[in-house]
Amino acid sequence: MKFPFLLSCLLLSLSVFSQIPIDCTNSCSYYGEEIGEETYGFTSDEEARNALQNIVKHTGLPVNFTLMAGNVPNASAIIRCNELTGDCDRYILYNQDFMLRVKQKTKTDWAAISILAHEIGHHLSGHTLLVGGSRPALELQADKFSGFVLYNMGATLDEAQIAINTFVGDIGGPTHPGRSARIAAITNGWIQASEINPGKENIADEKAEIGSNKSSASIKGIQWRHDGAKNKFALFVNGVQIAARCNRSYCGDHYILYDPLERNTYLLENFRLLIDNQLRSGKLIGTGESIFWRHDGANKQYGLYVNGLSIGTRCIASYSKHDYLIFDPEEQKTYLLENFRNLNNNLVYKGKLIGKGPSIFWRHDGEKNLYALYVNGQLISTRCNASYSQDHYIVYDPEEQKTYLFENFANLSDNTLRTGSLIARGPSIFWRFDGKNNKYALYVNGQSIGTRCQSHYLGNDLVVFDPQENKTYILENLKNLGDNRLRLGRLQ
Ligand SMILES: [Zn+2]
Repeated sequence: MKFPFLLSCLLLSLSVFSQIPIDCTNSCSYYGEEIGEETYGFTSDEEARNALQNIVKHTGLPVNFTLMAGNVPNASAIIRCNELTGDCDRYILYNQDFMLRVKQKTKTDWAAISILAHEIGHHLSGHTLLVGGSRPALELQADKFSGFVLYNMGATLDEAQIAINTFVGDIGGPTHPGRSARIAAITNGWIQASEINPGKENIADEKAEIGSNKSSASIKGIQWRHDGAKNKFALFVNGVQIAARCNRSYCGDHYILYDPLERNTYLLENFRLLIDNQLRSGKLIGTGESIFWRHDGANKQYGLYVNGLSIGTRCIASYSKHDYLIFDPEEQKTYLLENFRNLNNNLVYKGKLIGKGPSIFWRHDGEKNLYALYVNGQLISTRCNASYSQDHYIVYDPEEQKTYLFENFANLSDNTLRTGSLIARGPSIFWRFDGKNNKYALYVNGQSIGTRCQSHYLGNDLVVFDPQENKTYILENLKNLGDNRLRLGRLQ
């Protein structure tokens, strides 16, 4: 086992042209060993660099440190400052041999990831800026951070703890606490993350074991099992294990999966609770477009699942009568959950995609003489000014300074949702001229004001004075544009 590693180490040192001496005055070593005065860093290998990027991605913070392989005992967060300029650079150094041993001994990538996360925790908490390096309290903060991040990355609690459980002794030292305190810190971080973001626990796919095809081939229809102890699950469709290729999310206590290959959506009912590894029947709940939702009236929660992914938390939603209109800003898609208000029994229903791109929807309730405007999932009609322009409706939103047009609004009063168009940003001055009847109309900020104004021609333009606001508008070339179409005007 040693030989291949030595080879890779040799290759590495040949491929690296420069070694950077790094001063280790303020540093943390994962287990508290002394670090030599002169430490050398090498450029990091691909795997470690990917792991680091993945960890940082889950913190939402910028990568403001450099990862390097180096001659440290295990892993270290180190800061190096230029004495002349005072500029400081942050490093995370790791021992390649040590990381390899971690992986071999724990048989999982999570151990090495948790060690890197711990070191990143020191940097992001500013610990490396403090004089004196490691202290037990700071170590526990970094451990808590690693538990928090590992939850968000999908590690189970066991996986988040495995490095400490495998390598750290019971008794602590002057710089590092003992095992039980560190395990408690990781657990706290992991639980805190799970409370903020419940249901994200990653459940590993059961690997399709070679030679076990015989047993799975005999599994007919849609069958699943969930092994709570090992945090693993399997989904068989006609004897084929398809879990690995599916998108999936918790859906309350259920599990919803979308198979992008066959475009099928499956529901594994009470998956969260049924962890005894018994085979159970799953349900095919849809083919093709995969939009599902549930409305938990008792807990005032809803979930929206598109292609097996839970996206409700990133969306903006409003009621539209008994329906729920939802805008997903990330994908610029608008969904409608029909009869959402009444179907609050937490069962899973199919939703509808009603629009891609700009999300402008309106409906006109002729009976009650009401209208509604939804822009990007928000009901905004209550703050808008509006007026008829023949059979159309011009609506101005003073908050966003946007003007919308609802075509044929007067005749479409059946309360059905329809798409509107954005016709102007900024000043809202529109006019039209009916040459046949020699009549004009002027709409300013959603109000028809022509009747209160005085006007005269100036060449081909019409000059319109509004005595109420003491403003003058120019309707350019109006004399020649008698086709009654809506046009933009301007202030004098
Ligand atoms: Zn540390």
